[in-house]
Amino acid sequence: MPAVATGAERRRALDALRRPLELAAADQFAGVARIAGLGGALRAHASAAQRLWPEHDGLRTWRERLDDFDGRSHDDQAVEVARGLRVVAGLAAELPPPPAKIAARPGRAPTAAPVEVAAPAPASPAKAAARPRGAGRARGSAPVAGGDPLAASPQVIKGIGLAFAAAMAERGIATVEDLLWLLPRRYDDVRRATPLAQLAATTADGDRCVVAARVQSARMIFVRGRRWCDARFQDRGGGPATLVVRWFGVRGPMDQRLPAGAEVVLAGRRKDRGGTIEMANPDIVSIVVPGQPAPPAPGIVPRYLDIPGLPAARLRTAASAACAQFATVVDDGVPAAVLAEAGLAPLGEALHALHAPPATLGDDDVAAIHAGTSRWHRRLAFGELLVLGAAVARRRRARQGDLAEAFPPAPGDALARELAARLLFALTAAQARCVDELRVDLAQPRPMNRLLQGDVGSGKTAVAFAAALQVIRAGGQVAIMAPTELLAEQHERTLGGWARAAGLRTALLTASTPRGTRQSLLALLAAGQLDLVMGTHALLADGVQFARLGLVVIDEQHRFGVAQRVRLRHKGDAGAPHLLVVTATPIPRTLALTAYGDLEVSTLDELPPGGRRRRRGCSPAPAAARPRSRGSARRWPAASAPTWCVRWWSRPSPATRRAGWRDATSVAEELAAALAPTPVALLHGRLDAVARDAAMSAFRSDAAPVLVATTVIEVGVDVPEATVMVIEDADHFGLAQLHQLRGRIGRGGGASECLLCSRGAASELGGLRLAAMVESADGFRIAERDLELRGPGELLGARQAGLPQLRFGDAAEHTALLLEARRAAEGILDRDPELLAPAHAGLAAALRRRSGGGVYGAEGG
Ligand code: ADP
Ligand code: MG
Repeated sequence: MPAVATGAERRRALDALRRPLELAAADQFAGVARIAGLGGALRAHASAAQRLWPEHDGLRTWRERLDDFDGRSHDDQAVEVARGLRVVAGLAAELPPPPAKIAARPGRAPTAAPVEVAAPAPASPAKAAARPRGAGRARGSAPVAGGDPLAASPQVIKGIGLAFAAAMAERGIATVEDLLWLLPRRYDDVRRATPLAQLAATTADGDRCVVAARVQSARMIFVRGRRWCDARFQDRGGGPATLVVRWFGVRGPMDQRLPAGAEVVLAGRRKDRGGTIEMANPDIVSIVVPGQPAPPAPGIVPRYLDIPGLPAARLRTAASAACAQFATVVDDGVPAAVLAEAGLAPLGEALHALHAPPATLGDDDVAAIHAGTSRWHRRLAFGELLVLGAAVARRRRARQGDLAEAFPPAPGDALARELAARLLFALTAAQARCVDELRVDLAQPRPMNRLLQGDVGSGKTAVAFAAALQVIRAGGQVAIMAPTELLAEQHERTLGGWARAAGLRTALLTASTPRGTRQSLLALLAAGQLDLVMGTHALLADGVQFARLGLVVIDEQHRFGVAQRVRLRHKGDAGAPHLLVVTATPIPRTLALTAYGDLEVSTLDELPPGGRRRRRGCSPAPAAARPRSRGSARRWPAASAPTWCVRWWSRPSPATRRAGWRDATSVAEELAAALAPTPVALLHGRLDAVARDAAMSAFRSDAAPVLVATTVIEVGVDVPEATVMVIEDADHFGLAQLHQLRGRIGRGGGASECLLCSRGAASELGGLRLAAMVESADGFRIAERDLELRGPGELLGARQAGLPQLRFGDAAEHTALLLEARRAAEGILDRDPELLAPAHAGLAAALRRRSGGGVYGAEGG
């Protein structure tokens, strides 16, 4: 056998192997019984493939299992076929993409001959992988090589050519699945079109409306090289022309399409000018010309998003063609049994109802599809949540097998006594409870995976310290990671201070650590001569070795993604280290279930003594409060108390200058001039460690009572004496960010004040955010409000946070559905952990599609 097989040879071998497998998988594996000599064929092709992939373990073991294929039960054989399809998909994913067949294809998909699916997008070879169940059920529609119609390029849809498919792919619609799941943004109910005579009374200026009218006149107008069609409409009952419509940029003689007397339905936005109603470029939803046969009246017309380069009308045709061809054969992973139990509509029905609503739809259903709350939306959401639930559950199960070193606490209450001696305060009840929860976890030989959440200032650092102390006293090492150097430096001071007082050996390791120091620290760490190391993500770098890493604390987790969590998981040498993820961005319960569904949660729901009292007042400030001049700065509470002044930018850019936003540096200069001789410190992300340290210690020691900073201080930074904060252009900050910033003041007790300055009128959303800030100081309340204002995707900074990208499953809205989907996913995995049963092939494929696209983070699936 040749030592090196060519790509073409391998592809041929895979195709030969795939063919009997797909036949066997057809009709929910009915083919298994139907195909004579299936076992022999599989063994022959598998052996041939094995010669080309001699090193492939999966292929070898599968080939061995085929030996007694013929004597086994139908179900067993089906499982073997599913396994084979998986092996083939895995092998196919490793192959380089085939030479660009896409260019050789004619523009239209031939209907009879099998369509070769060109690799859809270079980014996702995995998407082209075979998908057993879909393969079997796609019969009767355009054949799809590779088996998974959902993963195929939209080119397989009748009427979609190369150019349009390419245009769609460029805008993120690379597969049939992308297209089918791209739902209309709204629907125009032609059956309920408003007669023109009633338009003025039932809608308002600026509303979108669907109006029935009659053409009175239409003509083309040419002015200085521009051309448009100008048409006047009257009510169908007669009367004067009360609607003026202009279509700009039209090519042909559009006026001829609109002869006087034609009855039309238009959909567009109403614009009032003087006494008349106007519309620009409305859609003509239907048109009946007198004397000509009337085309069938449309019922409900779906409207798609206007994506530049993808005309909405073409998108609509494409989506409805996709629906006609694939809606009833695709599978989003919900097994039939689960569907029945949940009492949900079949997927095909849902896709049809949403892309091509039947004209018989009742008013309630129309309202529901408009609002996105229909039972069909729920069906799609459920599919998505089920796959997500399965991904999270598998992640947790995979970890359950992990081993970790146990770090039992010292006998008696030695730990509590030591803690009390180190901390200058008594733990709050909530802190004590969390410390207890951690103590139990750390003493187990399974890796702890715990999320510690609590509002800003709830004292999470002390809890983390308690955990660190327990691990170190039992012989382990602890790493604490912060999202910014500033915060890492602060941990080194406070937490490091407690640790050193307890006789522990600590170190700070960040990107600013000089090379030489870094080398020696690394050597000490690897030799077990350091107990506690604090740093930024530099701690994750590959060169960093630990002697006995027992616990990793990740502070302010929303900056760390799932992928980093995984890397850490492999840092320990005696198994995985215990993991504590600390966050002040309270995660609403439902979100916790999705993104962090694999973590246990401890909550600090209480602030240290005086915390509530010193909750900061927060007021929207008039422009005069902005430290523009000496006079206004005097009126500023700043003059007497240490003050943060937060700016958004560290350096001016042309754009910020145009917007009139000042950068931190110039604000600091102005303030220094206004407050002279009082020094003003400056802090921003571009400073090096030394300058940063100088600024922080000047502020901390009150040498410079005013600090002008960018949002580098956003997370975690703790200067107890600071009592006043001025946030400029506050309406441009996110709600979570504002809450975090506000959390930087009033930490030492006493009254504090946060001024939220905005220039002129804030945007609508900005205004809502400021109002939410003034109204509540409760982090959970703020997070909920944030969720309402922004949706879950943005709350935690979607991708970095490893937050799943859900198209429908709105974690906030679908709580019950989410729980149900999770229960179902657990149930499925309990019975079939590897998802090998034929009924679960769709789910396995959906997981593969998701993890291929990185939808659930690197660890997903
Ligand atoms: P966060 O939860 O935002 O990380 P920190 O751990 O930084 O909060 O604590 C906020 C402040 O409260 C710190 O100055 C800390 O010393 C103080 N603190 C924490 N726990 C207590 C307590 N039990 N009693 C009094 N002060 C406390
Ligand atoms: Mg903190």
